[in-house]
Amino acid sequence: MSASNYNWVCFECRTSRRHPKISGQIPACPDCGHECFCLGYKVEVPRRDAVREWRLLREECRKRLYARQDQQQQSNVRRQHDLEKEIARMEALGENKDRERQIRKLKEELTRRSTEPLTRREF
Ligand SMILES: [Zn+2]
Repeated sequence: MSASNYNWVCFECRTSRRHPKISGQIPACPDCGHECFCLGYKVEVPRRDAVREWRLLREECRKRLYARQDQQQQSNVRRQHDLEKEIARMEALGENKDRERQIRKLKEELTRRSTEPLTRREF
């Protein structure tokens, strides 16, 4: 089995298909059009009629995804604090062309990070 092929499942239809994982691309279910969820290649896919297993799997996947998003959010907030501190530190050093360019870059990153919305993907 190729490691680039992952199991993608549709929780609505309780189906799975193999598809490579490509950053930013989420295949849609050909039956219902819902976005598929990437299970990886280690998690066993339940039988189609195992309704309870599918429900548990869905809850587990949600929990894991949301926990990961929370972590990303936390590290994003940490990075924002670091940026603010660094900007304040550099601004206190006085005028300097190179430094101003660096400060501008840091501020751009800060703006980008503070406007990034946290999206809770429902699936
Ligand atoms: Zn479907």
